[in-house]
Amino acid sequence: MVSGERKKILIIEDEPKIVRLLKINLESVGYEVAYALNASDGCKAVEKEMPDLIVLDVMLPDGDGYSLCRRIREFSDVPVIMLTARAREREKIEGFESGADDYVTKPFSTAELIARVRAILKRAGAQHPSGAPAELEVDDLRISFSKRKVYRGATEIRLTHTEYNLLYHLAVNAGKVMLHEELLSLVWGPEYRDEVEYLRAYIRHLRKKIEVDPSEPRIIVSSPGIGYCFALPTGHEPET
Ligand code: CA
Repeated sequence: MVSGERKKILIIEDEPKIVRLLKINLESVGYEVAYALNASDGCKAVEKEMPDLIVLDVMLPDGDGYSLCRRIREFSDVPVIMLTARAREREKIEGFESGADDYVTKPFSTAELIARVRAILKRAGAQHPSGAPAELEVDDLRISFSKRKVYRGATEIRLTHTEYNLLYHLAVNAGKVMLHEELLSLVWGPEYRDEVEYLRAYIRHLRKKIEVDPSEPRIIVSSPGIGYCFALPTGHEPET
């Protein structure tokens, strides 16, 4: 490990072999590992263990990972990687709809999973470059880049790491159309550049949280077939 305290990973998976394999491998590269073998224990473990990241299997004996992910999202914005059994497009999209940040398809290599864990934790801890504006305001929405927080008026809007990262890349490019593939590369990584459905799912999550009327978005505006554009900040409206 480089420095600082060890990051804790919670594995929620009912196959003991996979749990053992992941535990050994994640511990060998310096992570602390907790695990739960079903959805009910998993949900409790999220509150008790306060993990930095969750690896969540889709098929659990007492429920599916999607519902559990939705439950976790009601009280936590911890990054979630879904383990999907098959590379079926619909399942991946359902994972993103339920608030997962990424997915790995079974059978997976532990090296691949560790790479995903590292990438997500790195993005979650990314710092806003110094010298860039500390915050941005559009209507009554305020984004504090230095604190990684978003407010409407005085109320904080809680965003997951992926939602924040997506909003961040749109907001620092306010007024410019960001291409689908550009946003996918920035937020999920270059290997996701063609997965427009994931981007759509996350834009929906974001709009529900930040737009006054998500069906008439004013902050994140679509350029159909091309990308999305973040509205110009208050005081920077173009001359008409
Ligand atoms: Ca399973």
